[in-house]
Amino acid sequence: MLINEHTAQAAREHVSGMLDKSFRGVKSNKFLKVTVKKSRPPLPPKPLPDEVNDMARVDFECHPSEPLKIAEHWEDAPCCLICGRPHIAGDQ
Ligand SMILES: [Zn+2]
Repeated sequence: MLINEHTAQAAREHVSGMLDKSFRGVKSNKFLKVTVKKSRPPLPPKPLPDEVNDMARVDFECHPSEPLKIAEHWEDAPCCLICGRPHIAGDQ
């Protein structure tokens, strides 16, 4: 009786350990799946290229580090955001 109880207890612990191991395996598999999903780009960035295509970049000689983005059909001469100096077209 005592031996049977001990054997049953040992068996329960053994099964419990196996279940724990397999559960950990499932957890790590799920983690791997999540990691792969995260590495994918969530959505194709469609709006951004459209916006860039509509805008023209204007570099100013006075402040090259502060380029201005204007619409391509912009007719007025763009002015520097920092000092207000107008951009001279074709001056490169
Ligand atoms: Zn400037």
